[in-house]
Amino acid sequence: MPSRVLFVSIIPSAPLFAANAVALLRDQREEEGIKPIQARGWRATRCRACRVIESHCLCAWRPQVDARSGVCLIMTNKEVFKPSNTGWLIADVVRDNHAFIWSRTETDPKLLALLRDPQWQPYLVFPGEYVEPERVTNTVEVDSAKRPLFILLDATWTEARKIFRKSPYFDALPILSLLPEKLSRYRLRRSTRSEHLCTAEVAALCLDLAGDVAAASALDAYFDVFSQHYLDAKHQLDMNVSTPAHAELMPFVQNGSAALG
Ligand SMILES: [Zn+2]
Repeated sequence: MPSRVLFVSIIPSAPLFAANAVALLRDQREEEGIKPIQARGWRATRCRACRVIESHCLCAWRPQVDARSGVCLIMTNKEVFKPSNTGWLIADVVRDNHAFIWSRTETDPKLLALLRDPQWQPYLVFPGEYVEPERVTNTVEVDSAKRPLFILLDATWTEARKIFRKSPYFDALPILSLLPEKLSRYRLRRSTRSEHLCTAEVAALCLDLAGDVAAASALDAYFDVFSQHYLDAKHQLDMNVSTPAHAELMPFVQNGSAALG
């Protein structure tokens, strides 16, 4: 018997992380010779797996959590390389994650196949005020045999509007618009100061709407921990793992003691 099969049968619940579709996109772009623009002051080496500065690596803090929902990120070339991109975090948390680079002239057949896949009910997440009201929904069908697939435009607002207008394959999809009261309650709970939520925060709200409450909490905590590591690295502060966000994330981390170092 091949040793690999034996290994799997001995440890049936061996923790396995799903592939991160955003990381794969980055690797593909690099293979094609597309390079990120190096921002000033960011000369320190980054971890290949989590793209945070090595001294503040996030890898030990990647949560493992089940989710019925899937996510599909539509990104720009620039966004894939941004160290501050939070779509990457979503792909770390949600096992069924997909990511595509948007192009006005070409559409990846894999994206079209995903939108047609009968196991999924796709929802395009976009503000309702920009869409015909009959397409807009504020809720997610949770009893349906189809699993929710959240399509998130992981780009600047200007780019997101362009993607929305110029992607005819999204025209038939329902638009999931997050209600202002949901958004403000979320901001209040998390004391988020910025006016716009980032992609990871929007995804956490979507997961919550779909009843994937644990995945929503894990993603929120993971985003906070990422922000902390990212900013501490940027300001050349030592890594601090005794924050409320780390404590919140801990139950979702398989090997908690290793994460604490
Ligand atoms: Zn790392």
